[in-house]
Amino acid sequence: MTSRLSRLAVALVATAGATLGVTVANPAPASAAMTICYNTSQAGSYAGIANQAASIWNNATVNLTLSANCGSNLRIYQITGGGSYAQRTSLGNGRVYIDTQQAAQYSPLRIMTHEIGHILGLPDNYNGNCSLLMSGGSAGTSCTNPYPSTAEANRVSNLFAGTFSATDRSADIFRDSWPSVLTPVS
Ligand SMILES: [Zn+2]
Repeated sequence: MTSRLSRLAVALVATAGATLGVTVANPAPASAAMTICYNTSQAGSYAGIANQAASIWNNATVNLTLSANCGSNLRIYQITGGGSYAQRTSLGNGRVYIDTQQAAQYSPLRIMTHEIGHILGLPDNYNGNCSLLMSGGSAGTSCTNPYPSTAEANRVSNLFAGTFSATDRSADIFRDSWPSVLTPVS
């Protein structure tokens, strides 16, 4: 809904500008939207969750579309042990690894959308706030929120529009988002 409204707003502004003969400085080209082809052939039991996460990001953002199995900008892997993490090679490109042991403790969908968030340019933000996606495991195992906040989603949209610093688009690796949970000794 937000995406459609935003696009409509852009179209209306563009139409108004054309009608008035206004010259818009540095207009964003309409064809700038990036298709991020993600591949779940190695995702094991998390392929369906990857599709859900892609839908969440697609609904929350503009300027990018995650599309299944049309290529391999983003490869998703199921692993056991070592921790879930994301390896970004550039904005919209990289690999996401989902650790089955962590996914048994934390919400697998929250892990998936969080790790994809790194591929989409977001850093970790370990402040314990469950309303944020990039707070990751700092919000505890009871936090199952898989949705980016409006600010997080808008930051991704803006990154794919070409704004913000190059740092957010650079190659990076994001580990240790999901601290292991010790079983209480009784
Ligand atoms: Zn993280």
